[in-house]
Amino acid sequence: MSDSDFDFDLFVIGTGPGGEGAAMQAVKGGLRVGVAERYRQIGGGCTHWGTIPSKALRYTITNTMNVLKNPVFREMGIHASPTMEQLRRGTAQIIAKQVTMRQSFYDRNDVPIQFGHARFVDDHTVLIDEKEPVRAKQFVIATGTRPYHPPNVDFDHPNIYDSDGILDLAEKPGTITIYGAGVIGTEYASMFRNLGVKVNLVNTRSRLLEFLDDEIVDALAYHLRDQGVVIRHDEVVDRIEGTDDGVILHLKSGKRIKSDVLLWANGRSGNTEELGLENVGLQVNKRGQLEVDQQFQTAREHIYAVGDVIGYPSLASAAYTQGRAAAMHILEQKNGNLRLDDIPTGIYTSPEISSVGQTERQLTEACIPYEVGQSQFKSLARAQIMGTTVGMLKILFHRETLKVLGVHCFGANASEIVHIGQAVMDSQDLNLEYFFETTFNYPTMAEAYRVAALNGYNRLF
Ligand SMILES: Cc1cc2nc3c(=O)[nH]c(=O)nc-3n(C[C@H](O)[C@H](O)[C@H](O)COP(=O)(O)OP(=O)(O)OC[C@H]3O[C@@H](n4cnc5c(N)ncnc54)[C@H](O)[C@@H]3O)c2cc1C
Repeated sequence: MSDSDFDFDLFVIGTGPGGEGAAMQAVKGGLRVGVAERYRQIGGGCTHWGTIPSKALRYTITNTMNVLKNPVFREMGIHASPTMEQLRRGTAQIIAKQVTMRQSFYDRNDVPIQFGHARFVDDHTVLIDEKEPVRAKQFVIATGTRPYHPPNVDFDHPNIYDSDGILDLAEKPGTITIYGAGVIGTEYASMFRNLGVKVNLVNTRSRLLEFLDDEIVDALAYHLRDQGVVIRHDEVVDRIEGTDDGVILHLKSGKRIKSDVLLWANGRSGNTEELGLENVGLQVNKRGQLEVDQQFQTAREHIYAVGDVIGYPSLASAAYTQGRAAAMHILEQKNGNLRLDDIPTGIYTSPEISSVGQTERQLTEACIPYEVGQSQFKSLARAQIMGTTVGMLKILFHRETLKVLGVHCFGANASEIVHIGQAVMDSQDLNLEYFFETTFNYPTMAEAYRVAALNGYNRLF
């Protein structure tokens, strides 16, 4: 078959960060690219019901509540309780800006967007909304995920929400139970608590966010409890009972938790149903996710998959990089510079958490001789000025080579400043000395690196 038999060299299904990364890299590399999107606007779950709306709402809640809690405003007699609708207003504007900007990427690069549900009918053809056939030589599936809905939970009940629907909450509840204490569950626990809502966070595991450094997890658990979040570990749902005035969560341990609303935040499923995968000989796992190799090729080498639909790490940041990597492989470009194994974690709880590289547990298990340098935010001038003294930066480094092996941080700006450590960690030339041989702006939160590096260096003997 020659290239002229195809409408496109590459057809991308989904316009979230995974799809956008693939489409833009491929078109810049000279391929004829088309995309499909079944939602009414581009941007994916990332823009419309995941990352952007949740982070925008978090920002508004944090700022608004900081102002309302400020003693100066209280002295002035200002007491207010913003409605959910008021708090959400800014979010809609940010989403609109994101859509306009992202749409311009497709327009400027002449990438046509076909709005409708794409489904494979044979190896090289998809139908859009069962109408127009599109033929392409290669494909990238970037269809994302949706919240997992167990059959025995009634999501039609007005007080039972999943993580996509919770953003549309009409009124601020007095109490909320969050089932599932992964990244999304803990972020929403923090957000609702900041809003003054009583929060029950139910964890199916024995610790929060087990993939993080233990000390950071302990700090998160301490601060969530300190703020008033009730955390219950090692619990499994028995059943969920929707009542006229709320929801009762019955746990297998015999406990019952009653609250105004319940947020089900326990897992997500790949958007692979009705994608016609049976027509191209592809299968998914029990979570509806596709398996790929290191080049993001599925079992059919002309069909790639990127982003949440392939599972871990299920981050917008990673989805974009994976999309680019898939396109670079199609273009036969070298992709060794994308550092796909070095994905940082950013968790927007209060306090915010971010980390990159290995944890103390991993280094200990691997018998790597490491040392730790720490800086407490309460000793930083910038943190004192901003009133954000809760937090810590921790650098793990090789005690002989001084190579940075991991950076773990919680507190104000953690998700930003972690990248300084990431750059040094990835550098062939730099090591711990960079942090105390280089002048950092003062006062900054980034100064924590100098303090932590010296703290660790002084432990060496
Ligand atoms: C509440 C929440 C908070 C989050 N916060 C963060 C965060 O702070 N940082 C971070 O990095 N990540 C965060 N994430 C994760 C992030 O949103 C996802 O990792 C990211 O959106 C994945 O991108 P994607 O391109 O794989 O899929 P998506 O962004 O979900 O896009 C998939 C697109 O494919 C379309 N589609 C699906 N099937 C078809 C079809 N058959 N035909 C046509 N179109 C189709 C969908 O309509 C959708 O537009 C969060 C997620 C949630 C739910």
